[in-house]
Amino acid sequence: MLLGWKSLSILILAFLTTALAFMAGCAKELQTCTNVAKDQRASFMAPLVRYPVYIIPDKGTSQGDGFTDAEIGSIAGTVREWNTVGQKLFGHDLFRLGPPGAVPEGLRNGDPHDCRQSIGDQTRFYVVRETNTDRWAALGFNASIPGATIRCSAGAELSQQVIYLNPNLVNANQFSSVVLHELGHAAGLDHSCMSGAGKPDYVGCDKIKPGHPYQLAVMFPSLTRGNESVDPEIKDTLKPNDSERTQCLYNPQQ
Ligand SMILES: [Zn+2]
Repeated sequence: MLLGWKSLSILILAFLTTALAFMAGCAKELQTCTNVAKDQRASFMAPLVRYPVYIIPDKGTSQGDGFTDAEIGSIAGTVREWNTVGQKLFGHDLFRLGPPGAVPEGLRNGDPHDCRQSIGDQTRFYVVRETNTDRWAALGFNASIPGATIRCSAGAELSQQVIYLNPNLVNANQFSSVVLHELGHAAGLDHSCMSGAGKPDYVGCDKIKPGHPYQLAVMFPSLTRGNESVDPEIKDTLKPNDSERTQCLYNPQQ
């Protein structure tokens, strides 16, 4: 995806979910969430059912390296960032980082969209590290996608989810930005605007100008990769729009 107002290379932080479940989740939130602009009212998915939810980072196997200590430190920082917002808005942590664990083989070699796999539940999910080019492609991601969150829902309720990260596809300084973004999906936020045309209650990204709160948000769907004249774009703290939407999803009455 290339937005018209940017000529630099763009990387996409993919978001994938089961469409029907997504719609059901939206309808439920639309009834209660009035403190978010109308053009973002369809930008929600099923929230976490209970929290904090435990995150199991990939410890690696013969097929994958697992996260480095520095990457684990970055993930821990993004968990703290989301929890700070959760505590402030509704008095709870959203996530808790558990010790690294062995990732089920099906998450490396199977169809990540197969919601019949037992790949976690409402209380815990895996974060998979995959840097092998062929396996990344086999999972359905291209080189412009450094991270993806796949959620499975039963009705309007989240049943399980998994995050995939490929640190090789991002500047090392941008790794935290990617993880922070994916944890936003894991919490139930869709993008701050919709890639493509948009719809009345979910504005298209091509309508958003640089500097707009939706573009500044961590949950904007792309980051500038940067080049020799422009630094890589960093978004490693949550922005007002991210907080407002989190409040809408978890504490809509306030
Ligand atoms: Zn995304």
